[in-house]
Amino acid sequence: MGASRIIFQGDRLWLASTPALPEVEAELRLRLPEGHLALKVAEDQPLPEGVEALGLRDAFSRMDPGDWAQAGRAYQWLEWAAAHRFCGSCATALEPCEGPEAGHGRRCPACGRTVFPSNATAIIVLIQRGEGPDRELALARSPHFKSGVYSAIAGFTEPGESLEQAVHREVAEELGIRVHRLRYFGSQPWPFPNGLMVAFVADHLDGDLRPDPVEIEDARWFRLDALPQLPSALSIARWMLDAAVAGKTDEPGMGADPNE
Ligand SMILES: [Zn+2]
Repeated sequence: MGASRIIFQGDRLWLASTPALPEVEAELRLRLPEGHLALKVAEDQPLPEGVEALGLRDAFSRMDPGDWAQAGRAYQWLEWAAAHRFCGSCATALEPCEGPEAGHGRRCPACGRTVFPSNATAIIVLIQRGEGPDRELALARSPHFKSGVYSAIAGFTEPGESLEQAVHREVAEELGIRVHRLRYFGSQPWPFPNGLMVAFVADHLDGDLRPDPVEIEDARWFRLDALPQLPSALSIARWMLDAAVAGKTDEPGMGADPNE
């Protein structure tokens, strides 16, 4: 990926086989906080020679993880800008905020409302029980998962809810059990389209698995030595599962802090 220009066409990232992406006409150009230029090109724009357009999930295996994360950030900024062209209060066209404290928000010149990008915050929780070789994980399948894949329980926070409350609610709703001893694992920006995934490990407290019949296709306790097919290395769900297999989910600093 070019160091300074990141190009999306719809939800597909342009990847060039040559070192630099070609010059291109864009519908939307944004200078990102880090100085990169994010461009959104028209859906009917023909692909230049030597360029492929790939969804972010498919692009992951082809890119340096840092470049992929940057592309995800660019996508979130572009999506936000494309979806916030007019004031939600009075429908006037928004303008970029001006001044040193403006950040990267937009302001309504008529009523003064300012808007800034926001994340949809979701929790994900890996539930364990038992010790040592008898340890088991509660994993579930959503009907949307690839065939055979099981993962940790996840869901969006609701307005007015803490992360911990969201964990307890989602676990009760989706699995019908209770957990305790929540430990923070780490977090991951999730650009599909504007999520922030906050990951916890928790211990089973009580209850038998009674999966939600709508959201969960199947849920089971799996022994660490007999895990099913797991999600790809793209997601923090997999990082947690790998930590569980390595016996590291009981340690402090087990998560994804790049300074650890
Ligand atoms: Zn307004």
